[in-house]
Amino acid sequence: MSFYDEVYQPIRREIGEDFMHSVTAADVRRAIGKTWLNERDYLVLLSPRAEDFLEEMAWKAHRLTVQHFGRVIQLYTPLYLANYCVNKCAYCGFGAHNKIKRDRLTLAEVEDEARAIAGMGFKHILILTGESRHHSPVSYMRDCVQVLKKYFSSISIEVYPLTEEEYRELIFAGVDGLTIYQEVYDEAVYDRVHLAGPKKDYHFRLNAPERACRAGMRTVNVGALLGLHDWRSEAFATGLHAAYLQKKFPAVEVSLSPPRLRPEVGGFDPPVRVTDQNLVQYILAFRLFMPRAGITLSTREPARLRDHLVKLGVTRMSAASCTSVGGHSETGQKTEDQFAIADGRGVGEIMAMLYEQGYQPVFKDWQLLEAN
Ligand code: SF4
Repeated sequence: MSFYDEVYQPIRREIGEDFMHSVTAADVRRAIGKTWLNERDYLVLLSPRAEDFLEEMAWKAHRLTVQHFGRVIQLYTPLYLANYCVNKCAYCGFGAHNKIKRDRLTLAEVEDEARAIAGMGFKHILILTGESRHHSPVSYMRDCVQVLKKYFSSISIEVYPLTEEEYRELIFAGVDGLTIYQEVYDEAVYDRVHLAGPKKDYHFRLNAPERACRAGMRTVNVGALLGLHDWRSEAFATGLHAAYLQKKFPAVEVSLSPPRLRPEVGGFDPPVRVTDQNLVQYILAFRLFMPRAGITLSTREPARLRDHLVKLGVTRMSAASCTSVGGHSETGQKTEDQFAIADGRGVGEIMAMLYEQGYQPVFKDWQLLEAN
């Protein structure tokens, strides 16, 4: 049994399509007042009716976040190793259908990037590749990790879905975190926006976080790309997925990202508009549903909104982001961006903003065991 059979389908069948629109104000108040929320309460807080209660939800979300995480925000930055990709995801600048310059960092270039990023103060790194087993095989990622662990205390991957054995291999090499977005949980929409390539296999991707957990991954971060489908049902599915993983693998630190689609070179027009208020409601509802889960907010979001969200549930933020291959080191930006970032502030500015709000930026809360 997997998330899909054990939780996702049964709950959708049980709750039904109309539930969200039958929610009353009393339902919302009751859900906010509960100590432990079930899946139905989470959906209540994602409903249109709950939009009238964002203030109350914000107070509680803030309190829970401070209670479980303190006033700290962990900072990390992404490092794009390669942009070769065999998939045609309609919304992505790296899609095989886009005529862009393709590149893959050599190990010497990885070292240049690592030095530049570590020089900014980062100790946690997220490495990314497009999906090309030919250009970015697991052996290449493993070699990159050998270089990166000289500079970073925590290495996470955001790469194509791997087998359990491959996850184990990378964990053995020094990887401790996985980010993998299902992109869209609705199967029909998933099929529509993934035009061609191995990523069309919805279930292989959906089960990837679980395979990583079984392999011994320390942290797992899931998410849906907001803008591809009704945000409330996608937020619900993502929360269910996070809760399922946390319950099944209590030793794993599970977190969630709520990324919104950004402009990219292919000019994809998102079918659904997700407003700032929608995003806030999602974050608040999830915080109340899973008080101890991390919430990651990337530089896809504009500076002003990120500043406001610091106190409302977020626990991890990217900074000084660059979505092109090898964009951090002195050699400069080499390829097109995967998508346009919205918050282009440097590390110093993000740190200053956090201190101003009474929060402490944290660069390191983990150390690879073998480096001790
Ligand atoms: S989202 Fe990932 S798999 Fe899809 S085109 Fe972009 S890089 Fe390739």
